[in-house]
Amino acid sequence: MAVFICPQCAHREASSERTEGHQPRGCEKCGSGFVFEIMDDYYAGPLTALIACDAKRRVLTAGHASVPVTGWPEGDMIGRDVVEALSLRFPGAKDDPVDRVMEWGVRAQGEECTFRPQGLSEDRHAVIDLFPAYDDDGGLLLAITPVTKG
Ligand SMILES: [Zn+2]
Repeated sequence: MAVFICPQCAHREASSERTEGHQPRGCEKCGSGFVFEIMDDYYAGPLTALIACDAKRRVLTAGHASVPVTGWPEGDMIGRDVVEALSLRFPGAKDDPVDRVMEWGVRAQGEECTFRPQGLSEDRHAVIDLFPAYDDDGGLLLAITPVTKG
């Protein structure tokens, strides 16, 4: 059963049989017009930044918790390459999880990464979950949760 998650408020809505195959028009909680389809339920914590991107990794929506986590006002993120904007790095990964998710269309879970919040001079450690988009437009949803190391 598909689940739709709202990148703005992280509200999840399971698609019932009645609505199978029909994307909800928007978020029933906050009214945002854009929801992202994922295959398995996912709970975004209070400090999990949700960022939706198009097929060229450009930010469409920097929503839930993304301002406190990334330091970027949403308007400054829109249209930018998300990997460049956040200086996303995957030090321990054998490949680039962003490319992998977009190429293979499978979810990546709990990847360790670092990113550089706007206005800070040091990278932060985080755990990132990546979800491919299933509609024809492609793209992906990033869920970035900062972690404190050491
Ligand atoms: Zn919402």
